[in-house]
Amino acid sequence: MGTRFACVHLSLHFGAERKDFVMKIIMLGAPGAGKGTQAQMIADQYHIPHVSTGDIFRANIKNGTELGMEAKKYMDQGLLVPDELTVKILLDRVAEEDCKEGYLLDGFPRTIPQAEVLDKALTELGDEIDYAINVDVPDENIVKRMSGRRACLSCGSTYHMEHIPPQKEGVCDKCGNELVLRDDDKPETVLNRLEVYHKQTQPLIQFYEEKGVLRTVDGTKPMKEVFDSIVEILEK
Ligand code: AMP
Repeated sequence: MGTRFACVHLSLHFGAERKDFVMKIIMLGAPGAGKGTQAQMIADQYHIPHVSTGDIFRANIKNGTELGMEAKKYMDQGLLVPDELTVKILLDRVAEEDCKEGYLLDGFPRTIPQAEVLDKALTELGDEIDYAINVDVPDENIVKRMSGRRACLSCGSTYHMEHIPPQKEGVCDKCGNELVLRDDDKPETVLNRLEVYHKQTQPLIQFYEEKGVLRTVDGTKPMKEVFDSIVEILEK
C-alpha cells in the first residue's frame, strides 16, 4: 500500500493508541455534496493540507493573475477549467514541502485524464492514493443545498445558511470578511455543473473502485455523521 505505513509525523488516535502514517486522500462527489466541508474537517483533524483546486483558482481570480482571468471564463459558466491549466497547478502544489506527509485533494481530479496524470506522477514517486472518499448525494438535494451556500472569497471558508451558519450573518468566522453566494453556486450555473459532473467526473468513481481505494459515504446524513463515517474508514 505505497508509503501509507511508513513512519512519519501524521498521527491518528485509535483510542489510547497512536498510529503514524502518510495519508493521501481524494474527495469525490457532486458539486454541493458537502465534500469541501468534510475535506476541511478531515484536514483539520489529521493536520494535512487541504488542497482545493477551486480555492487555488479563486485566489488567482482575486489577485487578478493571468491564470485567474483564464479560469474565471470557465468557472462562471459552470464549466471545467481545461486540464492543461489545472494539472500543472495541482502537481506544483502537491510537490510543496507541506504535502510531503500526506494531503487531501478536494476538487481534483475531476476528469479521467487528470486522474491518470496524478496516478502517473505518484507512480513515478513509488506512491499511490490511499483512499478516494465518495460523498454520495442525489441530484435532487443538490440544487436546494447550493442556493444556501455562502463563501468567503478571502480565506476560502464555506458556510450554509441552514446547516453551518456563521456566528454573525454574512461575516466569515475565520477572517471577518464578507460572505457571498459564489457566481458558480447560482442555480442556473449549478445545473450546468451537475451536468458536467455526470459527464466528466462521475466516471472517476469506477476508476478508483477498480484501484480498490473507493469508499462511499451517505452525504445526505447530517454533517457530523458523514464526518464520523469518514473517520471510521480512515482509522480502520
Ligand atoms: P470547486 O470549488 O471545487 O467547486 O470548483 C469551482 C470551479 O473551479 C469548478 O466548477 C471548475 O470550474 C473549476 N475547477 C476546480 N477544480 C477543477 C479541476 N480539477 N478541473 C477543472 N476545473 C476545476
